[in-house]
Amino acid sequence: MKNNESTKLSEIAQKSLASLMSDYQTTSQGLTQTDADNRLKKYGENTIQTVKKRSELFVFIENFTSMMAILLWVSGIIATFSGMLELGIAIWTVNVINGCFSYWQQHAAQKATDSLKKMLPSYVKVTRNGKIKQIREEELVPGDLFTLQAGDAIPADARIFNCSNLQVDESSLTGESLPVDKGNQYQQGDGKFAQNNIVFAGTTVTSGTASGIVFATGMTTEFGRIAQLTQNQKKVIYPLQRELNQLTRQLTLIAISIGTVFFLLAIFFVHSPIASSFIFALGMIVAFIPEGLLPTVTLSLAQGTQRMAKHHALLKNLNSVETLGETTVICSDKTGTLTQNQMTVNHIWLISKQYDVSGTGYFTNGSVSSASGNIILEEEADLRELLQIATLDNDTEVTEGKENEKSKILGTPTEAALIILTRKAGIDSQHENQKFPRLKELPFDSNRKLMSIISKTQTGTPIIYTKGALSSELQICDQILDAGQIRALTEADRKKILAINEKYAREGLRSLAFSFRKVVDQDPLMDQKIDSYTIENAERHMVFVGLVTMSDPPRPEIFDAVKKCHHASIKIIMVTGDSPITAKSIATKIGITSDKARIITGSELDQLSDDDLQRAVKDEVIFARVAPEHKFRIVSMCQKNGEIVASTGDGVNDAPALKRADIGIAMGVTGTDVAKDAADMILTDDNFASIVSAIEEGRTVYKNLQKFLLYILNSNVPEAAPSIVFLLTKGLVPLPLTVMQILTVDLGTDLLPALGLGVEKSEPGVMDLPPRPRDSHLLNKSIIIKAFVLYGLVASIISICAYFFVNYIHGWPSVALMASGAGYAKATTMTLGAIIFCQIAAAMNCRTQISSVFSIGLFSNRRIWLGIIAELALFAVLIYTPFLQEIFNTQPLNLVEWFFLFCIPIPLFLLEELRKFFVRRTKSHN
Ligand code: ATP
Repeated sequence: MKNNESTKLSEIAQKSLASLMSDYQTTSQGLTQTDADNRLKKYGENTIQTVKKRSELFVFIENFTSMMAILLWVSGIIATFSGMLELGIAIWTVNVINGCFSYWQQHAAQKATDSLKKMLPSYVKVTRNGKIKQIREEELVPGDLFTLQAGDAIPADARIFNCSNLQVDESSLTGESLPVDKGNQYQQGDGKFAQNNIVFAGTTVTSGTASGIVFATGMTTEFGRIAQLTQNQKKVIYPLQRELNQLTRQLTLIAISIGTVFFLLAIFFVHSPIASSFIFALGMIVAFIPEGLLPTVTLSLAQGTQRMAKHHALLKNLNSVETLGETTVICSDKTGTLTQNQMTVNHIWLISKQYDVSGTGYFTNGSVSSASGNIILEEEADLRELLQIATLDNDTEVTEGKENEKSKILGTPTEAALIILTRKAGIDSQHENQKFPRLKELPFDSNRKLMSIISKTQTGTPIIYTKGALSSELQICDQILDAGQIRALTEADRKKILAINEKYAREGLRSLAFSFRKVVDQDPLMDQKIDSYTIENAERHMVFVGLVTMSDPPRPEIFDAVKKCHHASIKIIMVTGDSPITAKSIATKIGITSDKARIITGSELDQLSDDDLQRAVKDEVIFARVAPEHKFRIVSMCQKNGEIVASTGDGVNDAPALKRADIGIAMGVTGTDVAKDAADMILTDDNFASIVSAIEEGRTVYKNLQKFLLYILNSNVPEAAPSIVFLLTKGLVPLPLTVMQILTVDLGTDLLPALGLGVEKSEPGVMDLPPRPRDSHLLNKSIIIKAFVLYGLVASIISICAYFFVNYIHGWPSVALMASGAGYAKATTMTLGAIIFCQIAAAMNCRTQISSVFSIGLFSNRRIWLGIIAELALFAVLIYTPFLQEIFNTQPLNLVEWFFLFCIPIPLFLLEELRKFFVRRTKSHN
């Protein structure tokens, strides 16, 4: 950082808040919307371009410099200089077309990936026109006031105020991995980013809350400046790409070796001239190099991610498609993922009285559906106290929807349920907050499972209000409110509370407990400043008030999704912060576990050794009342058992587990920025069922790649077979397929239906099989046998027969031995045609592995049919255009010949259907 920038930062840090606000022409009411709009025009969007795009021209040219392309360039030159100008031009043309096609595929894949990024907007809570509203991060402008809480990514450089226990992870800027404390008061620090009352874009909040006033956005932030200096794009190579690269290299090596052998044999065995021997060998090389494999695979992965996005699962990189298909265990949160996060308050329980308040409305992410019932608030001190805590110890805003509009929630459904509950009792939260102004907040975190606030009572003394999980509350309460009187919390009371809570939990209800403590008289905090109130000294000696229960029904789609997982041998482990009994009740209701499942709580987990835990996760198990840190251990132990683990998470502390898991899955709606950043996949609907759809899609994409590979490889054999005939007969039988014809099949007709295979829908039963083992290869033995022996050999025999069939019609054997003339051209046309028609059958046969093609619908994949039509059209153009006839050595076909060709695919297709039928039958008998 230059000195003047450093000075600017310390000036901002040392200024009074009022003068900073006047510098940035803002007030505590925030900017007006008009002012914000004008500033957005002036300063531009708040975005940081960390990645400099590679020049499009460079990307384009790259497609013409692969080994295969270079080989074709050189071959074109050799052909030209050996007097075969037309062949030279044709080879170059094919090379150009092929390069353009592969660039198009690359471009389409990039576009698909980019469009996914746009589907994941980040929001920030700002104050504008005196109201809190949520805006997209890009719309933030200098002078905006915004709020921060744990898990937020800091959207811009800002001076902070109203700060409460704020800790920030600045490792992206400073490299320092420990979170740093931030505060309201300026303190001198050393180092580049030492200003303790300034937060920087690109860093994240690990705990606490604060408000901020923006002083720099986009590329003018410190992070933006650094990004500008270090803009470079790291090319990440995924395992699948590595495997494909290796495969391409191996096949290329084989192709070149075979080509060299053929070249030498042509010279010394057949005594052909060097140039034509070279062109002949080129045919062999072209036939075997699987060009176009990588761009097609990348495109098909990218298209797979697009389909997943439609099913609410956004993948951050293509690699995850492959891992998803291998997933064997899903560690899933409960609330909101398995359940609807639609909180309905059912009961209020006080030691002396209970209320059934079912039917007072339900509250879901982002909106409220109000039911008709109302609560009659009796003159009952304990109930009043509980509702008071529920109103004040609450960070969620519920705005009343206008006519026919749902109310909106800014916060969590749990807290929204409490707001609605208190509203039904006639309590106005704004009014209450004015009466008892908040002095400090000790924010909720899922480790201690409590949230507290300190408010000022009307007598001026502080009061601590706490709400949270009952198990945590009982640890901090030693008194109880009983019919308006505070008395000691006895063992009998504890038993009674636990018993009622257990009863509710068995019904699958979630509970929240409430407590308070007035800081009066002898209280140790009495003379302390509010700043020195901490979790340790404030959340103790509390007065227990009561419980509120809420129901959160399972998502309707969950039952099927769980069944699908079980069929697919994927294990589900529920890992929840909720109570063990509630967790078990929901898990058995949904069908995740039987009621024999072992429940391990967070504290029990702490006592288990790694070995014990490793054994425990092999059986039916539920983890309850766990902290996010426990999730990391659970994921690790599953992995030690050789499992491929997908794990969900939403909070800031879930990040390590998300990173550790093979597939980290963050919640798009309720998840924090930190969780989203750490994850590989983001669910835009927070729904477990979307994970299952994504796994299904992942398995399908992988299977489609195998189908594609099988299809591409199987045409290599009939492309090469004619050259073998030529060699074996010592050149007596001229080449039944010319080099240009090989190029036509390999770079033209072959690729068109293959594109359709990449988007084939899931084969029935894809989720009835166990997950694919991690060490399995895309190109396995069964594909090799099918490609080279089954499909390949049959197609070779048919195409060579086609060659001799024409010869036979036109006067065997004389024509057969002539390497020129119309008869020879017609014969090679038939070889080419036979290969194309065999490929039509192969395209259909490759669509399924063992299911009948009729079961997925003969015409259900339009792209394959379009590919086939395009392939036939190309063939027709090549044989009916006089100028192309010469280059491609083709001749028009008569009706008999066309009939011969059209007959080829039918038996091939029917025989394969029969084979699949027997495979299915054998499998079902086993
Ligand atoms: P899951 O981990 O499956 O998402 P969960 O939402 O119950 O389930 P946490 O968010 O860790 O898990 O919450 C744990 C417990 O903390 C809850 O069961 C509830 O009792 C309590 N709790 C949840 N939200 C709040 C809140 N805003 N304030 C106080 N306590 C809360």
